[in-house]
Amino acid sequence: MASILSNPIEYLKGVGPLRAELLQKELGIFSFRDLLEHFPYRHVDRTKINLIREIEPATEYIQVAGKIISIGVMGDRRSRRLVAELRDASGKLELVWFQGIHGVQKLVQVGGEFLVYGRVSFFQGSPQLTHPEIEVLQGQGAGRPDWLEPVYPTTEKLKVRGLGGRQLGKLTQTLLNMLKESDLPENLPDWAMEYPDEETGERRKWLSRYEAYRQAHFPTQPALFRRAVERLKFEELFLAQVRLGLIKSRRHRFSKGVVFSQVGEMFNRFYTQYLPFELTGAQKRVLKEIRRDTGTGRQMNRLLQGDVGSGKTMVALLAMLLAIDNGFQACLMAPTEILARQHFAGISELLKELPLEVRLLTGSSKSKSRKEVLGMAAEGRLHILIGTHAVLEEAVKFQRLGLAIVDEQHRFGVAQRARLWNKAEVPPHVLVMTATPIPRTLAMTAYGDLDYSVMDELPPGRQPIQTVHRFEDRRPQVMDFIRHEVAKGRQAYVIFPLIEESEKLDYENLEKGYENIKAWFPEPKYWISRVDGRQKQEIRDTNMQRFLSGDTQIMVATTVIEVGVNVPNATVMVIESAEKFGLSQLHQLRGRVGRGSEKSFCILMTSPRLGKEARERMSILTETNNGFKIAEKDLEIRGPGDIEGTRQSGLLNFKLANIVQDRYWLELARERATELLDKDPDLATEESRALKAFLQSQHGKTAWSKIS
Ligand code: ADP
Ligand code: MG
Repeated sequence: MASILSNPIEYLKGVGPLRAELLQKELGIFSFRDLLEHFPYRHVDRTKINLIREIEPATEYIQVAGKIISIGVMGDRRSRRLVAELRDASGKLELVWFQGIHGVQKLVQVGGEFLVYGRVSFFQGSPQLTHPEIEVLQGQGAGRPDWLEPVYPTTEKLKVRGLGGRQLGKLTQTLLNMLKESDLPENLPDWAMEYPDEETGERRKWLSRYEAYRQAHFPTQPALFRRAVERLKFEELFLAQVRLGLIKSRRHRFSKGVVFSQVGEMFNRFYTQYLPFELTGAQKRVLKEIRRDTGTGRQMNRLLQGDVGSGKTMVALLAMLLAIDNGFQACLMAPTEILARQHFAGISELLKELPLEVRLLTGSSKSKSRKEVLGMAAEGRLHILIGTHAVLEEAVKFQRLGLAIVDEQHRFGVAQRARLWNKAEVPPHVLVMTATPIPRTLAMTAYGDLDYSVMDELPPGRQPIQTVHRFEDRRPQVMDFIRHEVAKGRQAYVIFPLIEESEKLDYENLEKGYENIKAWFPEPKYWISRVDGRQKQEIRDTNMQRFLSGDTQIMVATTVIEVGVNVPNATVMVIESAEKFGLSQLHQLRGRVGRGSEKSFCILMTSPRLGKEARERMSILTETNNGFKIAEKDLEIRGPGDIEGTRQSGLLNFKLANIVQDRYWLELARERATELLDKDPDLATEESRALKAFLQSQHGKTAWSKIS
């Protein structure tokens, strides 16, 4: 039986076709359920009526009651407005309407007594309310509700049609009066009804859903309001975690993957003879996780988050050797040609004593070598293929692809994954590596259906990068500092921003900056590599190569070098106009230094005129080197909507919950969902029946179900 909540909003008493259309257009309210889930953003104490005299310059909102002493339309056609004067025992106040004048005129007449609520503004020194909410004043006490009155988000268009922030509450009230307890049945399992209070830790019991909705709209006490909102937030987060958990657990149980049953000769020989350093604890842990995943017969789908410089490449290499030891081929994909080449050079060097075939394939591979590589891959003679997206092309066929690794791209999409799967009968294991740390709370929601590993430990012996913030007027000192480092045999990066919207100007700045640096560092004593996106591929590569090999001491570049590049001898990173970069990007750029054993420095150059947020970003960077902490801060400052890779994903569209502020409830929801799926992975028990039914009834209604 269809729930009353799916009724079209038009059929709610007091709505009708006209208002329904507006509600749909303006607020996306189509059904009774949508209205129920349109929550108030504040409550006003309706019993509290202020005196007009009490209005001060700092007053934001006010509720007053009084008599209308005049009303009339003023101004010419362009500034036509309705102005009424309201008087109470203490003074007078102007009420102004620019729209919906006709409707107001019908309601408001001279001599009538009204209750008025609105935002205070001042016009030529006297207070006024523009588009206030206004209603006929009821007799003292009579019919006055004892609850805190909800105020809803609304729009100007709705206001003039009598659906202001408070008037929407009348509709909600009508709706709540119609709903029976059975229309909002409990969906949490019995055992999950208890919870520890956020502040006191005291055991509490959730309000029922029915009660929670009523209290969230029309609270009878502030404390109950809080509990109601907490219950609804928890419910949202819990349902989301259960959905993600179900996807993950189904994949775990039903996907089919190739089995890497043994650690064999190549892995062991490399590990004992050629591994240039001891693995960090984090690297070992992740390898164990990969080994466990790939030994089970299900397909691995793992996201590896490692802070810049944590040594992801070595993990990738060892995982590929594991695949090879089990008779499979492996491929490693990088986002740029430069990175792919670098991986190829590094890995070939590390493996040079082993009888393994490693090849490179990029968009610019010459057709002869390309043909050879394709042949080797198809016949199974090739062990490791390293490349750019060229690897995904139709023509690239493997005999037995067992593992695909994607570097520096957590946004490796579903479509791209699918192309990988087509390259083998049984889909290869997939490991996606990213150096853009994602805060735990975000990862839990945005990637809750993937397995993920975290490498939060840097190899030993690294000295923390020292970061400073300098204004433009300190440029001479900064240049001296570079000179000093170069004299010690080190190298330096100078990075300029390049933003699409201001590309032309940015290139001009890059040009000027480059000339400027050249003037500070003249040839032949100094040599500079310049790398930017406008250059031809070969020129860019040559310049890059010269810096890699130490022929040039300074690299002037745009962010094309952002990800992955590894030049351990570089110890200085100067970021020009640093205020133009986001936190994560600055952290990424900074990660290009501090990769060797020498002490490294990052200098953030900005103009002295900095906004508050930019200042905050600079100070966070100077305070910490920890990418995960920075990501948390980023999330706090920008909010979840803006974090790379989650935009438009629809995954974070909670009605009430907010993953930054409601971390406590998110953790609890995660814990409960895990507990649930551990003991009842199909939601088949009697205890989970209501929950399962609820999830099914929601199917197609939320962004969550779209991904499931
Ligand atoms: P990222 O995680 O940013 O991709 P890389 O894999 O490029 O980092 O590694 C950064 C540097 O650290 C490289 O020079 C690499 O050789 C070195 N490295 C990696 N693992 C270790 C380790 N366990 N001990 C010492 N150095 C390491
Ligand atoms: Mg890397």
